[in-house]
Amino acid sequence: MIDTLGFFAILALYMARIYANQRKSSLALRQRKDFLLTQLKIAPDSLRASVVERFAPCGKAGCHCHQGGPKHGPYYFLTQCLAVGKINKFQLKTLAQQKAAKAGVNHYRQLLEQLEELSQINAELLRRGEALADE
Ligand SMILES: [Zn+2]
Repeated sequence: MIDTLGFFAILALYMARIYANQRKSSLALRQRKDFLLTQLKIAPDSLRASVVERFAPCGKAGCHCHQGGPKHGPYYFLTQCLAVGKINKFQLKTLAQQKAAKAGVNHYRQLLEQLEELSQINAELLRRGEALADE
């Protein structure tokens, strides 16, 4: 069943959200930064991956799925791009695996977004010639 799915490539493009920090006061940026630092924590299930849904034909030649009927599924897979052309992919067979994968992916994304916002605030503070860390 997995073989009939064939090759599919996941193009993982992380586009950073751009925060309008330039219009904010340094005090507001620092307050936001303090808040972000209280929120930042690494969830134990953090997972940098994607969960993809696939429908596929089965192995039975006479099945409706080979005569233009609906394919079987959905089947869920976890895909993880480790390097260019190096993709870790496996099926999430149970509902528990699917739920765990989705939760882990969401936690990873949240962490990444918070880190990105913190980074953009730091860049803006740096541009203003301000200190980034309390000395
Ligand atoms: Zn079938």
